[in-house]
Amino acid sequence: MQDQLCIASGMEDTVELKEKLSRYEKENEELRTRVEELTDFFENASIPLHWVDGGGIIIWANQAELDALGYAKEEYIGFPISDFHADPEVISDILDRLVNNETLHDYSARLKCRDGSIKHVLINSNVLRKDGKFIHTRCFTRDVTEKKYEEQRRNDFVAMVSHELKSPLTAITSYVQLLMRKWNNDTDGFNMQVLSRIEIQAKKMVNMAHDFLSLAKIGDGKIQLRREKFDLNILISEIAEDARLLTSKHAIQTLNRTETEIYADRDKIGQVLINLLSNAVKYSPHGGQIIIGCDKKPGEVTISVTDQGMGINRTDQKRLFERFYRVDQKSKEVSGFGIGLYLVSEILKYHQSEIKVDSEEGKGSTFYFVLPTALE
Ligand code: ADP
Repeated sequence: MQDQLCIASGMEDTVELKEKLSRYEKENEELRTRVEELTDFFENASIPLHWVDGGGIIIWANQAELDALGYAKEEYIGFPISDFHADPEVISDILDRLVNNETLHDYSARLKCRDGSIKHVLINSNVLRKDGKFIHTRCFTRDVTEKKYEEQRRNDFVAMVSHELKSPLTAITSYVQLLMRKWNNDTDGFNMQVLSRIEIQAKKMVNMAHDFLSLAKIGDGKIQLRREKFDLNILISEIAEDARLLTSKHAIQTLNRTETEIYADRDKIGQVLINLLSNAVKYSPHGGQIIIGCDKKPGEVTISVTDQGMGINRTDQKRLFERFYRVDQKSKEVSGFGIGLYLVSEILKYHQSEIKVDSEEGKGSTFYFVLPTALE
């Protein structure tokens, strides 16, 4: 009886074991299929992918990446990623950021292809870590070369048109000024009035051409500062004088007019002020006071332009400095392209400064930025 029980329980064990084994085999098979599918997915995905280890060496890349750059596996995997970047400082910045646990979103870089050509890419990457240890990056690259070239062609066109427009417009302004000098003593003020209107409009167009040219240069990364030491207050006075010609409705005032020497690009800071002032005029259509402040503290000066115009709500304030951004309702009433504040912010970035805004809808706005004063 005892023996029979033992045999029966042994048989049950065997059946159970067999069932377990077949379950494991099935699960194993499913797992293998999943791994194969995932491997296939990454190896043959149409987007270029690669892994780089903590030492900056490429340890894996998929076919799309090899095809995009034209390398065979043996020419790419096992080599430093920096060998394939056109700009050493860019890849070194990328690796630094990844080591510091940053995730890169659409980081712009240029890669060297096997045939010597250059590809513009956007990189998205972060790091797989185990127990805090850098295992490898997870890097996705998107080819944007065609888009870059298209942008380049557009920039070149804009630059060419603006450049061509600037010369005749400058000539018109000079001839108008010549006539104004000639007719200065004219008893009938009509000629002078017409000429001064022509001058104002021509100057507006020169400024627009100037802005478009700067936009194209910024797009190409070709802006170069010509820094010099100059008195900020003289520049502010000149620009305020020009702005007064644009409007009879506004009282344009300059505050704290003490000598303030700064070391910056005079033309570009002038462009910043012209843009802020012409906005202050444009966006306070009922007139009022416009104040240009120049608040000097030890080592720095805060320059501000305040108006009593329509103001800007909080949501729009966050987006004002984007290229081509215009506040909807206002842009319908006032002409513009939405590039002025973008240029202001870019020019100031080149000066390691930043444009800021305080504004309340219906009450007015203050745009301001800080620059270091020149060393004595
Ligand atoms: P534009 O004036 O050509 O539209 P800007 O880049 O100079 O382009 O300005 C972007 C937008 O910011 C404007 O369309 C306007 O809506 C808003 N803005 C700029 N300056 C002021 C201001 N001083 N007051 C109110 N809104 C302003």
